[in-house]
Order: sequence, then structure tokens, then C-alpha cells
Amino acid sequence: LLTAAALHKSFGDNHVLRGVDLEVRRGQVVALIGPSGSGKTTLLRSLNGLTAPDAGTLAFDGGPHVDFAADAGVRGRAARDARARTEAVRDRSAMVFQHHNLFPHRTVLQNVTEGPVQVQRVPLAQAQARGRELLARVGLADKADAYPRELSGGQQQRVGIVRALALQPDLLLFDEPTSSLDPELVGEVLSVMKELADDGWTMVVVTHELAFARAVADEVLFLDGGVVVEQGPPREMFTAPREERTRQFLHRIL
Ligand code: ATP
Repeated sequence: LLTAAALHKSFGDNHVLRGVDLEVRRGQVVALIGPSGSGKTTLLRSLNGLTAPDAGTLAFDGGPHVDFAADAGVRGRAARDARARTEAVRDRSAMVFQHHNLFPHRTVLQNVTEGPVQVQRVPLAQAQARGRELLARVGLADKADAYPRELSGGQQQRVGIVRALALQPDLLLFDEPTSSLDPELVGEVLSVMKELADDGWTMVVVTHELAFARAVADEVLFLDGGVVVEQGPPREMFTAPREERTRQFLHRIL
């Protein structure tokens, strides 16, 4: 579905991504794990252009091929074309953030329909019908007219997930979706994510929840120092890591 190759990103002289390749197949769940500061979030944001890599390429099946280094210096019409390619890539995915980022003064349903209506020009009634259906799927049918502050953290994060689903993306990106939640609320969000995986959604998930990665991911990438140190099915990586750095990381947190 998505191929990213040789991604590089620096913030000042902090070289955060140092040549990352990532292949995501349709229906696959890919977990990104690694120590704090290893570049997981930067990689995830690069996959949909929220962060612009300095170099590397990105392409979805059937979509344009974005070459960040080649696009960086262009002007005029070429620059407009480059922007259009980047937007075409961005439209294929939707992000669920660490903090749900819901609009506080809009109801749950308004939060969920905002993107489809404003960005995708979906008729309001249609967006609302789909929004209610998705809210029901995550157990929040009765919260459509509530405001975010009236919900628990776990419910808010489930709304954040519905907001991403409502855009009908090919790919869902999750940036540590449970790390700002109280421990007793983590389970309800992870179980919604597991259901999405079972339903066949393609997902890339930055997570510290190794038990979740182990149970749900098809492929795990261990990042350290801006490179993919090791990747493979969770069963192999968690029981018999090939690299010493992976072993040390897993040993520290398991
Ligand atoms: P964590 O698990 O702590 O979230 P991470 O692996 O997701 O870490 P990133 O958030 O990708 O790591 O950050 C990698 C490095 O890039 C860090 O040193 C961080 O300070 C830096 N960084 C990230 N975003 C920015 C930014 N917008 N401006 C400057 N530096 C940034």
C-alpha cells in the first residue's frame, strides 16, 4: 500500500531520521517501537507530510511518487505540482494523535464530521449518518451530542479514532494513542484498535504498549538513533531478537 524509502529528517543539527525504509502492505498492522527520541513520531508524521522529510521518497499504490529532496528547491509551477503530489499522499492517511486534539467547543458529532464536510465536501447529512454509525461501533452512540469535556479520556480518544475513520483513509496512523491516558482507560482504546485491525484496516502504530504490539502487529520495527535496527514479526523479535540493541531495549521495558 505504502512504500517509504531512505527518509531523512534533521531539526537543526539533530539528524533524527537517518535513512529509514518502510513498506506497509494493505491490511497490515505495523508497530514502531524504540527508545524515547529515536524518531518514531517523526517517522510517523513524515508518512503523511505533517513533517516534511529533507530527503527520501514516499508513494502509495496508484498514487504519485513524492521525492522530497528533488521537490525541495523547485519554484513556480513545479512547486505547485510538488505540493499537489504531497497533498495526494497526505489524503491517503489519517492520524490519531497522542492527545486527541478534539475541538472543545464542538460536539462529538461536529468533531467527527468536520473533516469530511470541510475538506472532502461530503454532504452534511451523509457525514452525520456515517459519523453516528462509527460512534456506535466504538460504543459511543449516546455521546454524539456531548462535548469533549463531558467524556472520559478513553472516550475522547475513541472519538479521536472515529474522527480519523470518518475520513475513510487507506491508512491509519497512531501516535502513542494511549500514552496520555490513565492506566485503567488504556484497555478500552487498545481494544478498539484491535477491532480495527481485525476488520482489516491498515495501521501504523507508534507504541510503548509492547503487549499490544505483540498481540496485534504483523510487523514490528525497532528504531534507535534514527535507523531501523531490526524488523520482523513480533513473535520473532520479542522472543529471539537478532540485534544486541533490540535485546537491551526489550530487556529494559519487558
Ligand atoms: P518519544 O517516544 O519520546 O515520543 P520518538 O521516538 O517519537 O520519542 P521523536 O518525537 O520523533 O522521537 O523525536 C526525535 C528527536 O527529534 C528528538 O530529539 C526531538 O527532540 C526532535 N524533534 C522532534 N520534533 C521536533 C521539532 N518539531 N523541532 C525540533 N526538534 C524536534
